[in-house]
Amino acid sequence: MRQSMIRKTVDQLRVVPNLTDYEGERSRFSWAEARSELEDLPRGGFNIAHNAVTRHARGPLRDHVAFRFLSGDSASTLTYGDLEAATNRFANVLAGLGVGRDDVVFVLAGRIPELYLAVLGSLKNGTLVSPLFAAFGPDPIATRMNLGSGTVLVTTTELYERKVAPIRSQVPSLRHVLIVPEAGEPLPAGTSDLTALMAASSDSFDIVATRPQDPALLHFTSGTTGMPKGAVHVHEAVVTHWSTGKYALDLHHDDVYWCTADPGWVTGISYGLIAPLVHGVTSVVDESDFDPERWYGILADQQVSVWYTAPTAIRMLMKAGAELATARPLPDLRLIASVGEPLNPEAVWWGQEVLGLPIHDNWWQTETGGIMIGNTPAFDIKPGSMGRPLPGVEAAIAVRTDDGGIRLLGDATEGELVLRKGWPSMFRGYLNNPDRYAACFVGDWYFTGDLAERDSDGYFWFVGRADDLIKSAGHLIGPFEVESVLMSHPAVAEAGVIGKPDEVAGQVVKAFVSLRQGFTADDALRMDILAHARRKLGATVAPKEVAFLDTLPRTRSGKIMRRLLRARELGLPEGDTSTLEGGGS
Ligand code: AMP
Repeated sequence: MRQSMIRKTVDQLRVVPNLTDYEGERSRFSWAEARSELEDLPRGGFNIAHNAVTRHARGPLRDHVAFRFLSGDSASTLTYGDLEAATNRFANVLAGLGVGRDDVVFVLAGRIPELYLAVLGSLKNGTLVSPLFAAFGPDPIATRMNLGSGTVLVTTTELYERKVAPIRSQVPSLRHVLIVPEAGEPLPAGTSDLTALMAASSDSFDIVATRPQDPALLHFTSGTTGMPKGAVHVHEAVVTHWSTGKYALDLHHDDVYWCTADPGWVTGISYGLIAPLVHGVTSVVDESDFDPERWYGILADQQVSVWYTAPTAIRMLMKAGAELATARPLPDLRLIASVGEPLNPEAVWWGQEVLGLPIHDNWWQTETGGIMIGNTPAFDIKPGSMGRPLPGVEAAIAVRTDDGGIRLLGDATEGELVLRKGWPSMFRGYLNNPDRYAACFVGDWYFTGDLAERDSDGYFWFVGRADDLIKSAGHLIGPFEVESVLMSHPAVAEAGVIGKPDEVAGQVVKAFVSLRQGFTADDALRMDILAHARRKLGATVAPKEVAFLDTLPRTRSGKIMRRLLRARELGLPEGDTSTLEGGGS
């Protein structure tokens, strides 16, 4: 464990942080009190969008800029008042189509304004909404829309034609496709023009009286042994978004905030949409792809003060060099935070030494809905540690016992990271999969699937996943989904997929396949298998490497032993092979 520390005191900081007394605030904190900072609907009920938008649009922040959307060289802004009107229009479009509380809206788009309007408008209409990652290929899109029984899809002409039209007939629940059309382009058959529908709709809307426990957001996450799981989050999750926006991101009302996460993943919604709006700050959204020069330009030109990003992006910026990082001063930047994958200590130090600010690592996952463990502005950072549990969060290290119970472990002992139930953004189910949900809990404790340690100062250190899930450039990838697509290639008999360590992306997906009779393992076939996977899964999820094996190691019950594939790939001890088919004792 690294002992070095970045010491911090409040008087070094330009802005007095919201959290200065960690122990005191933790002991005083109650979720009920946090909830009282937010508003109920005027006629009863509780809704995320009311707290994110309507509350501000009816108050002094009406003309304050909520979003600055950047796209190439152009920019547009939406004030809280504009956002109120536009999301009301979207909600009216849904209501006009007869879409209500039993429906599910999917959104598949890049970081365009309509995506944000669709999510907020769906929440206002009381309709469960699920953003999809626009870089997914057709297969993951169809899988998720079917798992969620999607009735409405909001997308663009380009994405529809390339990714949805080929699989639309496989998603029988889909009733309406609302397209954000490109100027002058004809609308694809069987779709409706969202821009026209919104223009024709009223800009006032009475938010549906959702209750705090009503489903609001559906975020898919990967499974080790099966298809993706839909984690259901409820309206009261916004209380966590508010409290973590306050403590971990230290949002103050005059901040300009930039969350670089894509809204196709949970961070892009919890912290790219909800938390900043609940705090009434101005958010920057950039539609363009990662580019170091552009990113430093945005930090400088937009006068970003709080920046929430990811380890892969930081490592890519490190690679781009200190000269570029320091070419323009960033006098407004006061806090950098990061999430999604292990943040190596060098990256934390790089922030401190090159940008003059350490990177504040924090930890959470789709199921937790919001930040649980973090480094906050006012306390010392131990580079390489994820930080300490935020107010309202009780975290521990534990193991499951043979009789189905839980044993909490002491400091400096590796075990599974567990969280005590009770924070508002905790997922309330895996869609249509109560058994899998129940299996995550023992008594009051939620098992996260991550291995970690706590040190004697209460800092948590990430060790690794307890399962076979892969984290590549921050994206959680389920090996089963990738293996299924590989096996749909005519040459592939069996497939096993692992995460191979990568200096920048953390891990990259590597596949091992054995071939059917009559196929030859050569480079042409390797390229064909890679292209097949990329076409169906999208480049982010598809393997970067394919290796041929005569047979794949399997357990006697027939399961592919990914653990063994990984050990062999990395030259690590093979561990217990007693269950290996034809091997062990
Ligand atoms: P997701 O549900 O896609 O957000 O992925 C959550 C998983 O990402 C966690 O369970 C961890 O395995 C990993 N993760 C998230 N944040 C961190 C972090 N700060 N350090 C290490 N791993 C992280």
